[in-house]
Amino acid sequence: MTQPDPQLDEFLQRLGEAQAKLDAGFTHLPPSPAPALGEDAAAILSEAAERLHDNDPYFHPLYAGQMLKPPHPIARAAYAMAMSINPNNHALDGGRASSAMEFEAVDALAKMFGWPQHLGHLTSSGTFANLEALWVAGQLHPTRAIAASDQAHYTHTRISGVLGLPFVAIRTDNTGRMDLDALEHALKTHDIGTVVATLGTTAVGAVDPLDRILTLQQKYHFRIHADAAYGGYFTLARNLSPEARAAFNAIPRADSLVVDPHKHGLQPYGCGCILFRNPAVGRFYKHDSPFTYFTSKELHLGQISLECSRAGASAVALWATQRLLPYTEGGEFARGLEAGREAALALHRTLAADPRFLLPIAPPTLDILFWVPRANTLAESSARSQAIFDEARRRDLYLALATLPARFFPPETWPHDIPSRADEAVTCLRSVMMKPEHLTWQQEIARRLDAATAAVLAIPFGVNTP
Ligand SMILES: *Cc1c(COP(=O)(O)O)cnc(C)c1O
Repeated sequence: MTQPDPQLDEFLQRLGEAQAKLDAGFTHLPPSPAPALGEDAAAILSEAAERLHDNDPYFHPLYAGQMLKPPHPIARAAYAMAMSINPNNHALDGGRASSAMEFEAVDALAKMFGWPQHLGHLTSSGTFANLEALWVAGQLHPTRAIAASDQAHYTHTRISGVLGLPFVAIRTDNTGRMDLDALEHALKTHDIGTVVATLGTTAVGAVDPLDRILTLQQKYHFRIHADAAYGGYFTLARNLSPEARAAFNAIPRADSLVVDPHKHGLQPYGCGCILFRNPAVGRFYKHDSPFTYFTSKELHLGQISLECSRAGASAVALWATQRLLPYTEGGEFARGLEAGREAALALHRTLAADPRFLLPIAPPTLDILFWVPRANTLAESSARSQAIFDEARRRDLYLALATLPARFFPPETWPHDIPSRADEAVTCLRSVMMKPEHLTWQQEIARRLDAATAAVLAIPFGVNTP
């Protein structure tokens, strides 16, 4: 017998009540019940559950590796309920209520960023949302290049290739932020139409200085796209550094922005969002579909989106989550982000006091931290990161690895030969502390990391290096 699970019981009961309420709206129709699941389906579900054991425990605070966590229970329940109708937010024919909820949910996101007006919609992912942003950039400036930092999400290069737009990579400084001298040099030597400012790089959570990029914009005239897929929600946090705060405060002057509710917005995949500050860019989306738009003269989300079918359930889940946890400074949702940042800073401090590790020049900007085991060569440090990563897993501590330039660490902390090779990469240990519970678990995480590190270093030198 399985253990009783009061949370699951409550979840299923509340979902059942809401589902019954939804179903009651259609009881005037002649009955047409959905097929029952039956024994065969139960056996298959059981097999699927068994197979899903082959996952790391993303839901648990000891999972502190990649940007992964389950959706909030209200998002899960709202999604499941809406999925029984399976509305399609492409057009009002396919989902009137869920389209209205999408407009409201996207409005709440735009308000959070301080945008008085916008054109925007949900997408299947941050990648697709960035594709739309750069597609509009290309429509406005068909021959001019896209520029993004060497720490920007790798998909920007690829998206530029798909769109046939030239791409220019801008060097980052030693804290992972776009280097503005390098940007200005590129603006003088290339025809750059759009600069992508990353607010929260995926690897280390660095925040490009959007406020100062805007100053360069006055001189060089380019579009600015803010890729805040990971970090966007941190605009609500009150414990950011002054530099990061200044960048987030500049968001109202960006031309477009991407944020991923399926990262920090407590949503199931796929839920990204694209916002344009000037609603007039909607003209680029104009198309004639012979079958979609017959029943309403109102704006359809499909008329302002590159994707066609999209899950209405995503919009319902996001809308419901926002109602429970509104985007207000100091509110429960915002405090969750602040807790993650505090957890990352606390663990960073613990590791900085540990002579076995090297810590980067900058403490965490958001809730992502990284560090590297000390060794005589970069190759040895990299091998030890991998070994500690493996050893930590054996202790049920789930970290991540990231390959980063050695120049992200203070040059004086490396052995003599390394500063001159600062652009070479080193494999680092990395942790995304994106659950509020990480604040109370960071000491336990440090304990398990300590044990894993001790086990690795107990192996005679050289044995664990390639
Ligand atoms: C995650 C991420 C993306 C890609 O978003 P997906 O939702 O994974 O497609 C783009 N940019 C940044 C900064 C990201 O963190």
